[in-house]
Amino acid sequence: MYSKQMSDPRQALRPSDALIIVDVQIDFCPGGALPIEDGQAVVPVLNRWIAAAVDAEIPVFASRDWHPRHHLSFSEAGGEWPVHCVQDSQGARFHPELTLPDSTIVVTKGVRFDRDQYSAFDQTGLATELRKQGVQRVWIGGLAQDVCVRATVLDARREGLETMVIADATRPVTRAGGERANEEMRQAGARFEITDLP
Ligand SMILES: [Zn+2]
Repeated sequence: MYSKQMSDPRQALRPSDALIIVDVQIDFCPGGALPIEDGQAVVPVLNRWIAAAVDAEIPVFASRDWHPRHHLSFSEAGGEWPVHCVQDSQGARFHPELTLPDSTIVVTKGVRFDRDQYSAFDQTGLATELRKQGVQRVWIGGLAQDVCVRATVLDARREGLETMVIADATRPVTRAGGERANEEMRQAGARFEITDLP
């Protein structure tokens, strides 16, 4: 079992932090093409963190899955997933209630024809940009806990970043997958936080 700290976003953030919101897109929420149970529940929690990040002038990154129409990750092409997050489709949009500021830095992934990209760090240049901005610690939430959040957290640790998982701002594809992902993220040195709302 792993421990979770309580964190008030307005107290927790410091100047060398960044917030990374992973794939909070319509297709990953109930009613979407690849719905994650209770996926929309991450939105109000992340909105608290976004508001605190904006006030603290901490950069907000939002990754999006952004596939070409016949992507190899789709089951019709022999892949693992139903058709989802097709470029410029309604389902690929960020959740409409996610209050991303105009200053949000969008990280686009899943665009390659020859392979899928789960991690927001995977050949996107994100690590370079974080270093350029002097970021030392990242707070990560979004969808799905056992797929793209997991991959992003593990890469953040590989990049030597202090890594905080906002545990109440993520949901897994499967419960067992979520538990496995938590164990892997913990072993990689990520820490888990629960949002403490005053
Ligand atoms: Zn995808």
